[in-house]
Amino acid sequence: SEEKSLHFIEQIIEDSLASGFPQDQLRFRFPPEPNGYLHIGHAKSICLNFGLGLKYNAPVNLRFDDTNPAKEEQEYVDAIKEDLKWLGFNWTEELYSSDYFQQLYDWAVQMIKNGKAYVDSQTSEEMAAQKGTPTQSGVDGPYRNRSVEENLALFEAMKNGEFSEGTHVLRAKIDMASTNMLMRDPLMYRILHRHHHRTANEWKIYPMYDYAHGESDYLEQISHSICTLEFVMHRELYNWFLDQIYDANQVRPNQYEFARLNLNYTVMSKRKLLQLVQENFVAGWDDPRMPTISGLRRRGYTPNSIRKFCDIIGVAKRENVIDYSLLEFCLREDLNKTAPRVMAVLDPVKVVITNYPQGNEEWLDAENNQEDESAGYRKVPFSRELYIEREDFLEEAPAKFFRLSIGKEVRLKNAYIIKGESVVKDANGNITEIHVSYDEDSRSGSGSEASQRKVSGTLHWVSIKHAVEAEVRLYDRLFIDEAPDSHKEKNFLEFMNPNSLQISTGFVEPSLQTVQAGDKFQFQRLGYFSVDKDSTSEKLVFNKTVGLKDAWEE
Ligand code: ATP
Ligand code: MG
Ligand code: MG
Repeated sequence: SEEKSLHFIEQIIEDSLASGFPQDQLRFRFPPEPNGYLHIGHAKSICLNFGLGLKYNAPVNLRFDDTNPAKEEQEYVDAIKEDLKWLGFNWTEELYSSDYFQQLYDWAVQMIKNGKAYVDSQTSEEMAAQKGTPTQSGVDGPYRNRSVEENLALFEAMKNGEFSEGTHVLRAKIDMASTNMLMRDPLMYRILHRHHHRTANEWKIYPMYDYAHGESDYLEQISHSICTLEFVMHRELYNWFLDQIYDANQVRPNQYEFARLNLNYTVMSKRKLLQLVQENFVAGWDDPRMPTISGLRRRGYTPNSIRKFCDIIGVAKRENVIDYSLLEFCLREDLNKTAPRVMAVLDPVKVVITNYPQGNEEWLDAENNQEDESAGYRKVPFSRELYIEREDFLEEAPAKFFRLSIGKEVRLKNAYIIKGESVVKDANGNITEIHVSYDEDSRSGSGSEASQRKVSGTLHWVSIKHAVEAEVRLYDRLFIDEAPDSHKEKNFLEFMNPNSLQISTGFVEPSLQTVQAGDKFQFQRLGYFSVDKDSTSEKLVFNKTVGLKDAWEE
C-alpha cells in the first residue's frame, strides 16, 4: 500500500492510542438522516468513517438518524443501504435513533428531575424573542422555573398526545446568557403528531438532533463522532448532554469536525435535490445529472472512481470548493483501464466503398482494450456500406484536417485504408453519401506492407447492415453557474442549464446487442458510455458518462 501522510483525524486517533486509549474501543458511525438519497458529499463522510474502520479494524455502525418523521421515509433507508453497499462498504450494525426513543425519553425525565430540563409553553416567536443575539444575552422565559412535578406531568402529557403540535416543548436548562447561542436553553423535544416510518404512531414527541445525536453515540459507544464544520458550535452542547448521562466506566464519545465537500456547478443540500425531483426538473433521485450516488451510478460512475476521488480530496479542516472535473478525472482514469472499446456512430453519414464487392462481408478482429491484455479481441463486421460521423468528413478540408476528405486517405479503425472520391447531395446541398475507394491490401493486423502504411487519421465506423440503432442520452452540467445556491437575490433554480440533456439516435456495432444495464464502454473517439436502466434488447439506451478529455477546460 502507498505511503500516505495521516490526515488530522487519523493523527488524533494515533495520539489517543499512543496515550493509552485501547484500540479495541475505537468505534465509528455513519449517521445519515433518511430524508433523501445519498450524494457525493456523503461519500466523503462514508469514505472517512469506513476508511477509519478498515484502517483500525474497528466497527462502523450505520445509524439512521430518524428523529424527524415529517421528512423521513423507508424508501430513503433502502436507497441509502443500496448506495453504501454499491460503494463497497459493509457496516457492522444497522441501527436507528428511533430504537433509542424510550431511553432518550427516560434520560429526559431524569434531567427534569435533576433540574436540567423544563417544559416551555410559549410560542416559538416568544421564545425566539427571548433568545438574544450573539452580542446580547438572552432572557429567561416565564416557565423556566416551573416545578419538577409540573414539568414531569406536562412532559408525560406531551408524550401521551394530550397536546397539539406547537403548544409545548421540552428545553434543556442551561444558560440564557451563554456566549454560545446554542447553549441558551436549546429544545430537546417537540410535539409531532406524525406517522414515523418505524415507530408508526407510538410517539407524539420527537427528540431534537442535538439531544438525540450525542446520546445515540454514547449508547453505541462510538469513540470518534465525526461531523462537518457547521457543528463546531454544537460541540459544547454535545458535551453538555453527555455530561448529564455519562458513566465513567463507559467510553465517552468525542465530536470532531472536518470540512464538508463542496463541488462546483451543482447543489448538494437534500432539500434542494428533493425540490429538483418533486418539481420534475430531473427524472428522479437517480437522474444521471444528479450529484447523488444513485445518479452517478446510473450515469456510469464506478465505486472505484468515487473512492479514489474521496482519497484525492482528503480530509481537512478548511472549507474549499472542489472542481467537478476532478471527479470526472477520477472516473476517466478508472474507465480507461476497465471499459471495453467499441465503435458507435452518433451523427451518421453514409459511406459507400465503390470498389468493395457487392454483398460481401467480413468479420474483422478488434482489440477490446489496449490497456488490458486480458480483455482479448472480438469480431466486428465490415461491408460495402458504412456509417461514419458526419463531422469526420469535409469536402474541402484545410491542411490540418486529419479526417476524411476528397482525395485524402484515412484508416478505418480495425479495418482498411479508404480514400475519398466523390459525394452525393440532396436538393438542399446536404451530403447524403460519401463515395470512397479502399486499399484491399491494407487490412489492420494482416501483416502486409500496406497494413503498416501511415495515414494521417483513424476513424471509427459501423457497418450499416449490421449496426444496431440505439438511443444515446448526452448530458451537460445541470447548472450554468459555478455556485448556483450562493446567490442572495436569486433562487438556485434560475441557474438550471436548459440544455443539460440531449437525446440522439446513434448506431452501435452488433456486439452491443446483448448489453445489460450498467455495462460500460468506451465508444472510440467519443467518450465513455453506460447502458441505462431503461435499455431493452428492442431499444438500447446509453448514457454518456464522460468525454475522453476534459471538455470543461475551455
Ligand atoms: P442536508 O443538509 O443536505 O440534509 P445532512 O448533512 O443533514 O445533509 P445527513 O444525512 O445528516 O445529511 O448526513 C449524514 C452524514 O454525512 C453527516 O455526518 C454529514 O456530516 C455528512 N455529510 C453530509 N453532507 C456532506 C458533505 N457535503 N461533505 C461531507 N460530509 C457530508
Ligand atoms: Mg439534514
Ligand atoms: Mg444531518
